[in-house]
Amino acid sequence: MLDDRRKDEFGLLAYYFNQAEHKLKHLALHDSLTGLPNRLLFQDRLQQAVAMAKRHDHKFAVFFMDLDNFKIINDTMGHEAGDELLKEVALRLAGTGRKMDTVARLGGDEFAFIINKVDGIEDAVSFARRLNQLLKTPITVNGHNINMGSSIGVTICPDDADNSEELLRNADIAMYQAKDNGRNTTCFFTREMNVRLQQNKEILTDLAESLLQGHFELYYQPLFTIDHKTLVGAEALIRWHHPEKGMIPPDKFIAVAEQSGLINELGDWVLAQACREIKTFVNVGIVDIKVAINISPVQFRRKDFLQHMLLILEQHDVSSNFIELEITEGAVMDNVDQAIDMMKALHDAGFQLAMDDFGTGYSSLSYLKRFPIQKVKIDRSFITDLENDDDSKSIATAIIQMSHSLGLDVLAEGVETEAQLQYLQGEKCDYVQGYYTGRPMPASQFIEKFRRAKDTSLANETAVSIITT
Ligand SMILES: [Mg+2]
Repeated sequence: MLDDRRKDEFGLLAYYFNQAEHKLKHLALHDSLTGLPNRLLFQDRLQQAVAMAKRHDHKFAVFFMDLDNFKIINDTMGHEAGDELLKEVALRLAGTGRKMDTVARLGGDEFAFIINKVDGIEDAVSFARRLNQLLKTPITVNGHNINMGSSIGVTICPDDADNSEELLRNADIAMYQAKDNGRNTTCFFTREMNVRLQQNKEILTDLAESLLQGHFELYYQPLFTIDHKTLVGAEALIRWHHPEKGMIPPDKFIAVAEQSGLINELGDWVLAQACREIKTFVNVGIVDIKVAINISPVQFRRKDFLQHMLLILEQHDVSSNFIELEITEGAVMDNVDQAIDMMKALHDAGFQLAMDDFGTGYSSLSYLKRFPIQKVKIDRSFITDLENDDDSKSIATAIIQMSHSLGLDVLAEGVETEAQLQYLQGEKCDYVQGYYTGRPMPASQFIEKFRRAKDTSLANETAVSIITT
């Protein structure tokens, strides 16, 4: 800094120069949109906090906060609206800390806090509660009231780590855990989270490698009419044959693939492989079926989803009439209007649409009326309990009746016993899928089973219906 106390023009010059330098410094260390400290300043403050904590033997907490579904607001209302929202959030957050604390914007919709001198986890918990409370009041942007949720990760120094890099990483890990736990929640860092993160990283690397090496296979689970006489389709289910670890079930890798975006490549592979196998099915005379493909919410929300699917079909010369897309409630409830437009476009392009795992999500039966779908798949959890639980019975029955009144077909998933099937037949459910009527099997076995039925013709009732077009 120059000496600007002189009363002559040098003093004045020095004054302006110092002002400019001050401004530049401020710009370099603050976020231009919200005026909050930026990542650089945050890291600097974090290092100071670590040093202070060591010197005075006290604890402090680092919070990472990520707004839930901010991207959707940006995408649907535009970047200006998104910026307005961020400014308002920043304004509210800025008021939370004491003078010695730091509230920063790390970038995008990510904010971070250093809360100095906490006595322990209780202090951190009560601060997290205040943060949550702050965002409870809806934010008005362009005349829309928006309810923002946030996922918060917390780590305590020195309990969890005593250096800034590790603290940053811990807070980040905890925040992702909060997102995983269903958003709008707070998670405190634990050692196990770190272990899980390492495992997930390993899965991701292996997944990418396996996509290149072709270690995936589709299994096909037959779908029948409720009388178990006519094959109407098959659900394509992905199987991962890990070269060293053997078969890895989907629940171990789909979520990881979704978080990383790799699910898009995986989804492309599934559709392409299904196309190749549909051609084989048709060649051997299994013609009158639809292959059901599970669509991840991540894929479904892509703007170019439809064009992308059509491109793959075109590359394989397969008609969309062969494909049924299984969409979950989670994929459509974030932005119902946009989802309805997408479903309409998909249906117009020839795809059949089914609502998968119905009854478990947060959509209600009344939403079904608005969705341009053709089929509802009752979630297996209701079917499993059919024999012992009256609630499951009445839910299954209600879903069937409501769906029928809306002109929708109903399929029951996870049917494992004769008694379950009989109940569903009595309730006039339309289709059945489950171990009782057929397990998932490799394409070759599927062909063998249902082609044989065709070849042995009249000896088997199923045979007749498969070749009937
Ligand atoms: Mg499914």
